[in-house]
Amino acid sequence: MSVMPRFNRQQLRSELERIARRPIRLTLTANASNYISFSPSENPLRVRIQRIFLDASDDVLVGVGRWLGGRAKRCPKVVGRFINSPPPEVAGVVHTRRRKLKPQGRCYHLGLLLEQVNAEYFEGSISARISWGHRISRRRVHARTLGAYYRSENVIFISPVLDQWIVPEWFVSFTIYHECLHALQPFGQKPHGQAFRRALGRHPHYGAALQWEKANIDLLTSR
Ligand SMILES: [Zn+2]
Repeated sequence: MSVMPRFNRQQLRSELERIARRPIRLTLTANASNYISFSPSENPLRVRIQRIFLDASDDVLVGVGRWLGGRAKRCPKVVGRFINSPPPEVAGVVHTRRRKLKPQGRCYHLGLLLEQVNAEYFEGSISARISWGHRISRRRVHARTLGAYYRSENVIFISPVLDQWIVPEWFVSFTIYHECLHALQPFGQKPHGQAFRRALGRHPHYGAALQWEKANIDLLTSR
């Protein structure tokens, strides 16, 4: 699908400059995890911004511009909402390189497990898809890299180190639960902040999962 965006880069830049009241150098990105980045002290301000903003409405642009200009201390809510749910005609265009999803592993079918987790804890409200991820290098394997949630694609990836029979199914499910919580997080909330940890702690296997992970850390990092 190809849709003409509302602005081109030049137009977006001049709109933002007008609202922010400062010169801006704008780079468009297709970054899936970082939608806007800039450091406020630069002049001109170098801004990297995701391409979905070419389709932003006026109120979203005003929010971004005020933030860039220092008149809003944090990312304004209207901007967060836009990032969380860009209009559907935009969402389809942003990610041209769609990943191929692979829910069926050697041992576990993530689609089935997600379905159970979704029904049991989230009343079916999780719309994310799920896939085994690529192998993660040994150095980077720690608690958080057992899974990842990609908001822009609405996909949960689970590390293939969990696709072994020696890893209990309930632990895989717990990891999926963890990522589901990320999927429900409002934009701007700390990924592992208090609200998140409270919700995580409500899972009946929370304590067991921490223990199991600690006891089996070698298993999870040795492949
Ligand atoms: Zn996490």
